[in-house]
Amino acid sequence: MEKALFIRTDYVVRDHDSGKSVEMAEFRRHATKTITYNWKSDQTRGQAHVVEVYGSSTDGKKSHIHLFSFGGQTDDIDGIKNPAPGANVQVVFEARLDGKAHKNSWARLPSVGIFKNWDQANSFALRIEWETKEGSGLWRYKYLQTTVRLHLRTDEDVPGSLSRYAKGIAIIHWLFGVSPDWDESWIQKPAASMRVLQAEYNFMTQSVRFVKPTKTYNALSFARKSGQSIALQMEQFNVTQRREDCKLGVTIKRNNCDLCNFFGSASCTKEGKDERICTLCREWGLPFCSWSSYLRPFSAMNAYNPISVATADDAAIYRRVEAALWASPIADTTGMTLEQHLVSMQDAAGTVDDDSDDESDDESDDEGMDEGMDELKSIDSDDME
Ligand SMILES: [Zn+2]
Ligand SMILES: [Zn+2]
Repeated sequence: MEKALFIRTDYVVRDHDSGKSVEMAEFRRHATKTITYNWKSDQTRGQAHVVEVYGSSTDGKKSHIHLFSFGGQTDDIDGIKNPAPGANVQVVFEARLDGKAHKNSWARLPSVGIFKNWDQANSFALRIEWETKEGSGLWRYKYLQTTVRLHLRTDEDVPGSLSRYAKGIAIIHWLFGVSPDWDESWIQKPAASMRVLQAEYNFMTQSVRFVKPTKTYNALSFARKSGQSIALQMEQFNVTQRREDCKLGVTIKRNNCDLCNFFGSASCTKEGKDERICTLCREWGLPFCSWSSYLRPFSAMNAYNPISVATADDAAIYRRVEAALWASPIADTTGMTLEQHLVSMQDAAGTVDDDSDDESDDESDDEGMDEGMDELKSIDSDDME
C-alpha cells in the first residue's frame, strides 16, 4: 500500500498560447521513488509504476483507478529516455487551478469535449525527474501520458464515457481532496484523497511550514453539453466539414469520417436514418461526423509509421484534427534536461509577475526551499494520517 506524502506548492506561469497568467498547483512526492522495472518474460520490455490511485469498493477488495507507470524497450531504459533501473525518481503532479486543459495532460483528451467538466479531467499532468546517472548532476524529465486504448469507454450505454475522461475526473478529485459525490456510476470513485501538505514559504524569515491545504477547489458540473454547444466547439476547432465537401487529397477513396479514421476503421457504420452521423461518432457523443479535407489515413500517420511518408502540410492537418477529436499531442522531452525546463518555466513566471524579485532575492528563495526539504525528511509519512 502506497503511503506517499505529497507537498503542494502553488505558483503562476504564463500560458504559452493565450499569454495569460495561469495559477498552478504542483504536488511533489516528499521522497524520491526508487524505480524497479517489471520485465516481460522475454526481457524485451520493462514497466515501472510510480503512483497508485485506488478506487473505493464494496466487496473489500482493492482495485486501481489508475496505476501510473512508464517504461519501454530495453534499449530505451538507458537513463536518458527513461530512468535506469534502481534510479531515484522525483514524482510531480502539475494541475491547472482554472480547470482548463494542461498542455502535457495525462489524459490527452481531445479539445472537443462532451461534458462540462471535460477539460478538468484534462487539467493535470504527471512528470517524473531523474538523474541520467547517479551523481552526474544531469537531470532529465518526462511526462507520463496515455498512449494506448484511447478509444476505451467505461459504459457502452453512455455516449462519451471515455475511460481516460472518467479516470481523469476521479484523479483530479483525489489530487485536490474533493469528495467524490457524483451520481455517474461509470466514473469510479477514489477510496481516499492523496496525502497532501501545502508548503507555505516565508521569504522574510527564509523558512517554510507545512499546512493542510485550505484553498477550495472548484469542481465543475458533470452535465452533458448540448449538441449545439458541442457543434460550436467543432466549429471553433475547424472540424465541421461535411462529406460532400471533403477533398480526398492523396488518398484515393475515403469511406471513413475523421473520428473513424483515428479509430483505424476503414469505413463508417451507420445506424438509423440520420446520414450525418455514424455509429462511432454517436458513441463518442458528437452531434455529427466531420470530414476534414486532405486528412491522411491513420495507418500512414501513426507512431509506428511516422511522418516521413507525409509532407509537413499533411502532418499539420492530421495533428490539428487529431487534437480536436481524438487526442492532444504527446509531449516530447527527449534529450531535454530538467535545467532547460526549469529555466523556461522561470522565464514564463518572471514575465507574469510585475513585482518579481531581483536575482539576489531569487537566490535566497532557493535556500528557503532547501531548508524546507531538509525539514521534510524528518517527517514520518506514516504519522501524517
Ligand atoms: Zn465514422
Ligand atoms: Zn463519424
